Amino acid sequence: MFNGAILIGAGERRGGEPFHAVDPSTGAKGEVAFSSATPADVAEACALAEAAFESFSTLSPDARAGFMEAVADQIMGIGDLLIETAMAESGLPRARLEGERGRTVGQLRLFASYVRLGDWLDATVDRALPERQPLPRADLRRVNHSVGPVAVFGASNFPLAFSVAGGDTASAFAAGSPVVVKGHAAHPGTGELVARAIQAAVKACGLHEGAFSYLPGNDYALGGALVSDPRIKAVGFTGSRGGGTALMKIAAERAEPIPVYAEMSSINPVVLLPGALAARAEALGTAFVGSLTMGSGQFCTNPGLVIALDGPDLDKFVAAAAEALSGAQAQVMLTPGIHAAYEKGVAALLGAEGVTTIGRGVAGEGHRGQAAFFSVDSAAFRSNPVFAEEVFGSSSVLIKCSSIDEVIATIAGLEGQLTATLQIGEGDEGDAAKLLPTLSRKVGRILTNGWPTGVEVTHAMIHGGPYPSTSDGRSTSVGTLAMMRFLRPVCYQDVPDTLLPPALQESNPWGLTRRIEGKLEVAA
Ligand code: NAP
Repeated sequence: MFNGAILIGAGERRGGEPFHAVDPSTGAKGEVAFSSATPADVAEACALAEAAFESFSTLSPDARAGFMEAVADQIMGIGDLLIETAMAESGLPRARLEGERGRTVGQLRLFASYVRLGDWLDATVDRALPERQPLPRADLRRVNHSVGPVAVFGASNFPLAFSVAGGDTASAFAAGSPVVVKGHAAHPGTGELVARAIQAAVKACGLHEGAFSYLPGNDYALGGALVSDPRIKAVGFTGSRGGGTALMKIAAERAEPIPVYAEMSSINPVVLLPGALAARAEALGTAFVGSLTMGSGQFCTNPGLVIALDGPDLDKFVAAAAEALSGAQAQVMLTPGIHAAYEKGVAALLGAEGVTTIGRGVAGEGHRGQAAFFSVDSAAFRSNPVFAEEVFGSSSVLIKCSSIDEVIATIAGLEGQLTATLQIGEGDEGDAAKLLPTLSRKVGRILTNGWPTGVEVTHAMIHGGPYPSTSDGRSTSVGTLAMMRFLRPVCYQDVPDTLLPPALQESNPWGLTRRIEGKLEVAA
């Protein structure tokens, strides 16, 4: 169960200003009064995380992987209460949340298997060359270490997979970082249930209690205090650009600045090339609306921009999209605030010069988002930045272009994005090849003949991109590469074997694949 507590290390307490969950489908306030963590709680959680750092960061790959698997088991052990709580707090349907729970535990287990492989340690050995002339070379050995305790801000739109035990926490644990989570105020009961599961796994695995703490709250000062704490060495965040950039500023102004890995806003352009439109305009129109309206459009990979050459085939796409949209039911949005922001964004598009409304979804009551699809020509698009702003929800803008060069120029003018999609058909290879260099400079993931919504958790996945889609385009927040955000290389020069970390010792006690004298020596 949950009772609204703050969880610091192995303990729990109450305190601070109480707040309540809100059921976005009814607007009803939940019964449980959740405690807001105070600055003193932040300080205590961070001190415990620092105390846990040495033992937690030096666990063997097997021990750390075992802990992550225990977290996954504990989450599954919560049972249906987790799904029911998340449904009441997010308005998301059961099937979606059951899928998201599967993704959350699958992600923890994938990280666990990757931790066991050990290649993320990047153990590299350049042995001494005592006979080298004119000077001998020292023995040099390099391995990745955790950066230190990490602060994680849970996201509203994935109450499980991007929240308390989501990708940021999983990747930080995998890297050996104790984690302090700032719980999202939109799903506090869900957050506490998962936090208790992690707390139980820490205890069951005999780890230092400071490996994990959970600080709920709905006050920006709490997040600011957490990022400011000198014991926190990196931050993982998913949310608004305003929130992400505010935390980046706080982190940059610390006496010791630290990286904030913020995943913020993206409109994910989809380019419909002429061959694709000629072959399947209507099917593309219908499928596009499916991607646009999935989960009320509350995905960072939602297709918020469509770019195509004007003409009769595009008209067919537009007609099919309008038709599909007219049957798209309004869905409950995550929070009243997110619904209000969506309405404001759509109103700004409706009032912009040069815009045509292609179609709207079915209107709904309460905090339900009514889908919207607009079109503009490329000159109007370029003249008003409102068209390129993320409207979080099922809203998208079609830009009609007159040539492929205009498509390329339009993309070149966009801010950094998480994804770009090319719909291609017969005869489109030349145009696609012309577009790819520009796209690869703008986005983190390029896909053809699919839709950007739906992000697999794998080794090759990149869910990142140039600013402002993320704060650091060299990283990803999904997939095993995400743990690299929380690692830093340390080189040991002429350090005796017995003092070296196990990954670098001559006997290779962890049986790792290592790079020796520049050559990869693969573990048996
Ligand atoms: P948010 O407002 O950015 O909040 C995310 C988390 O950061 C919350 O815990 C929030 O604290 C904290 N926070 C925000 N601004 C802060 C500040 N200035 N100082 C300290 N902490 C701060 O995001 P949200 O509530 O999830 O959704 C709001 C908007 O974010 C949406 O309308 C959408 O535009 C965007 N969004 C984008 C994505 C994406 O994937 N790109 C995902 C979700 C949301 P509190 O709990 O105290 O508010």
